[in-house]
Amino acid sequence: MPTVNFATRLLDWFDQYGRHDLPWQENTTPYRVWVSEIMLQQTQVKTVIPYFHRFMETFPSVEKLAAAPEDEVLHLWTGLGYYARARNLHKAAKKVAQELDGDFPSSVEGLEQLPGIGRSTAGAIVSIANGQRATILDGNVKRVLARYAAVEGWPGKTAVHEKLWKIADGFTPNARSADYTQAIMDLGATLCTRSKPRCQDCPLQHDCQAHEQGRQADFPGKKPKKTLPVRTTRFLMIRDNSGDLWLEKRPAPGIWGGLWCFPEAPDLDPVAASCDLTGQNPASAETWPVFRHTFSHYHLDIEPILVELGTAPSAVMEANRQLWYNVRHPPQIGLAAPVVGLLQQLAVEE
Ligand code: SF4
Repeated sequence: MPTVNFATRLLDWFDQYGRHDLPWQENTTPYRVWVSEIMLQQTQVKTVIPYFHRFMETFPSVEKLAAAPEDEVLHLWTGLGYYARARNLHKAAKKVAQELDGDFPSSVEGLEQLPGIGRSTAGAIVSIANGQRATILDGNVKRVLARYAAVEGWPGKTAVHEKLWKIADGFTPNARSADYTQAIMDLGATLCTRSKPRCQDCPLQHDCQAHEQGRQADFPGKKPKKTLPVRTTRFLMIRDNSGDLWLEKRPAPGIWGGLWCFPEAPDLDPVAASCDLTGQNPASAETWPVFRHTFSHYHLDIEPILVELGTAPSAVMEANRQLWYNVRHPPQIGLAAPVVGLLQQLAVEE
C-alpha cells in the first residue's frame, strides 16, 4: 500500500477543494475547536454552523460556559440531539475553568480525561488547535479508510476498530497536522460520502481498494441487524386556563436527562394521573394520535393527552423541577425533541 504519498495527495486535494471558511477555522482556539468537534459528532456541518454561532455569542469563553446554568446550555442545544454531549460539554467546561485555570490540556491523554472527549476528538483538538501531530478516527474517517484499505467488518467491533486506528495512525503525517485532519474529514464529508461516493473526483481513487473492487457500498461493514423493541408511553399535556403547560425536568442520567418534558403516565388513567399531580379535577381530556420517537436502542410510541384544567392552577410546584411553560413567551430551557413538536402544535392552537 503506497502510504508515503497518501497524505500528500490528500493535502494537495485539500488545498484546492477543502473547506477553509468554516466558523471554527477562524480565531482557532482549543475552546472553539472543542465545541465544534462535539457539535459535529453525528451531525452535519451545515446543521452545526448556526448552533455554533449562537453558542459562541452566548458563551465566548470556557469560563462563561462553566458559569452558565445547565438549562441555558441545553436550551442552546435544543434540536441538535444527543444531549449527553451538551451535559458533558458543560461538565468539562467547569473542570477546565475551575481546576485547570481555564487552560485546556495540550495532549491527547490530558484531553481524554475530560468528560465527553474520546481519543478521536482529543486528536482533532490537538492537531487543529495546537498544530501537533495527532490521529483522528471519526465516522467520516472510518468510512474513508475502511474503503481505501478494504477493511472488512463492523467498526464497532474492537478488532476492526483497532485495525482502523492503526491505519489512521500510519497515514497521519508529521507536518501540516491541522490541515491533514481537516482534509481527511472533508474528504469523507464531501466525496467519500455514505451513499454515492464521488470516486471520479477523489485523490485516492487509483489505489483505493473498494473502488478497484467496485465494493464501495460494502465498507464500512454494517452493524449486525437487531429489531428494535417498541415501548409505549403517554404524555400528559396539562394546560391551565391561561394556556400555560405543565413541564417537568427529567432526571439525569436517563432519556432526555436534564431536559424538560411533559409528565408521563404510561399506565395510569390520564385524568386520575393529572388529578394526582395538580390536585384539581380537569375540565376535559382529549387524546391525540400516537406518534413514534426512535432512540438508538428502541422505538417509543407516544400518546399525547391534552388535559384542560379550565381554571387557574392551584398546585404548589417543586422548585427547579416543575414549571408552567408559557407558549407565547417561552423560557430559555432545553426541551426533549418530541416536546418541541407538541408545543409547536399547541402554540398554533392558541
Ligand atoms: S475512491 Fe471512492 S471509495 Fe475510495 S476513498 Fe475515494 S471516494 Fe472513497
